[in-house]
Amino acid sequence: MRVLVVANQKGGVGKTTTAINLGTALAAVGEKVLLIDSDPQGNASTGLGVGRAQRTTTLYDVLMGEKPILDTVVKTALPGLDLVPADADLSGIELELGQAPRRSFKLRDALGPLRERRDYTYVLIDCPPSLNLLTVNAMAAADAVLVPLQCEFFALEGLSQLMRTVDLVRGSLNPALEIQGIVLTMYDRRNSLSEQVGRDVRSHFGETVYDTVIPRNVRVSEAPSFGKPVLVYDLKCAGSQAYLKLAREVVVRERERRAQAA
Ligand code: ADP
Ligand code: MG
Repeated sequence: MRVLVVANQKGGVGKTTTAINLGTALAAVGEKVLLIDSDPQGNASTGLGVGRAQRTTTLYDVLMGEKPILDTVVKTALPGLDLVPADADLSGIELELGQAPRRSFKLRDALGPLRERRDYTYVLIDCPPSLNLLTVNAMAAADAVLVPLQCEFFALEGLSQLMRTVDLVRGSLNPALEIQGIVLTMYDRRNSLSEQVGRDVRSHFGETVYDTVIPRNVRVSEAPSFGKPVLVYDLKCAGSQAYLKLAREVVVRERERRAQAA
């Protein structure tokens, strides 16, 4: 089981879209995927068609130690893709946990039993747009970080800040934390700024940046309002095909990593 955290402290860069559609694409190629919605906005839950009525138990109950994580898992319409939903109560977690012991390790501790059971081959965590306790819990629980990056003017600054956070987490909570990769999202080939930023990111971060680029595609933005991943909404569109390609790259990187470790 590999735990990947989808993180970027900026909002609107494609975290949730990537978590949903990479999760769907991984399930489509035969992986067993659990998506954990760790954003009080619950966009990943909504985008997967899991409405408020189905969110009786959520990640909040898990982090509060009131439920084992498996008791909160909801099946989605897609075989191979399950969800731990989120709701607005998650925004209170920082205060609720206060100075609780192991407050940064609540998610890591909760995932322990899952690692032993092997029901899932990938766990994806969708983070809120900030570096708060929820993101810290996600990074402390994860094996690797996957960063969606929108090619806009301040992208590199934001990325440096995120990399510093990853270093801090490595130095304190999770020395083994890796970077799975950086994916350029909402890419617009006709926009010269997109291209320029893309080039800069590749020259700074080299191989860390996936070859796959997610294009700006209206089908991708329409899909959540139908409670469907874009791969289910319109498999043929450019956005769906890009997420399938990204899933293959992620799987190849994982295979190479295992081969190196062996
Ligand atoms: P985040 O989770 O980082 O806040 P989202 O995944 O919610 O970002 O994306 C922000 C907005 O951009 C959403 O309305 C989403 O539908 C839209 N969006 C994301 N990726 C694409 C894309 N490839 N093409 C078009 N719209 C996109
Ligand atoms: Mg989001």
